[in-house]
Amino acid sequence: MAPIDNQNKPALRLVCLSDLHDAQQTVSVPDGDVLIVAGDICLEGRLAEVKRFDDWLGTLPHRCKLVIAGNHDWPFEIVGKGAAINLLKNAIYLEDAGIEINGVNFWGSPWQPEFCDWAFNLPRGPRLAEIWDGIPSNTDVLITHTPPYGILDEVFGEHVGCEALAVAVQRVRPKFHVFGHIHECHGVLKQGETTYVNASLHDERFCLRHQPIVLDLQDP
Ligand SMILES: [Zn+2]
Repeated sequence: MAPIDNQNKPALRLVCLSDLHDAQQTVSVPDGDVLIVAGDICLEGRLAEVKRFDDWLGTLPHRCKLVIAGNHDWPFEIVGKGAAINLLKNAIYLEDAGIEINGVNFWGSPWQPEFCDWAFNLPRGPRLAEIWDGIPSNTDVLITHTPPYGILDEVFGEHVGCEALAVAVQRVRPKFHVFGHIHECHGVLKQGETTYVNASLHDERFCLRHQPIVLDLQDP
């Protein structure tokens, strides 16, 4: 029997998904070390949706589950958001906050450029730049709901991602930047030192069309 090749074993396997919109029951999720959910748990923004999501998370084997909110996740934005956070018993909720897992630094934030007055909206420009200034420069895996401007962010031929976030990503240079929000652009793109992942599972017609994306961090 051939010896097991530990050299090729990933140090940390990340399983990324976003934009479940309360349709998680039919999603099959590959196993891994860290499950990342980059926002839009809800469709209508109800606490009952958060509860259903958490129950589903409880059936998954990943030893660590990181969740951020998105523009549909009203229960996490309104006053009394504690109720939503308390419902997440099977995950760690990150809102402009980070966590270290096996020497790998993760940071999560729900904010996006203003569009139709959704949850966690802020005007483009200085207010968003101020939020992104808070991303620590030693971040290895950045999780946001919005894409940065110019990367996996096109709608009808126009880039709609966040300009200030693109600047922040150039400063931080994370190994991975995981996001969703723009359903049109599910995919992976490596540019410079950063691999960008739009992990939206829904497409632009709100059909659940895509699979979670698996990333291996070989050298944390
Ligand atoms: Zn969405």
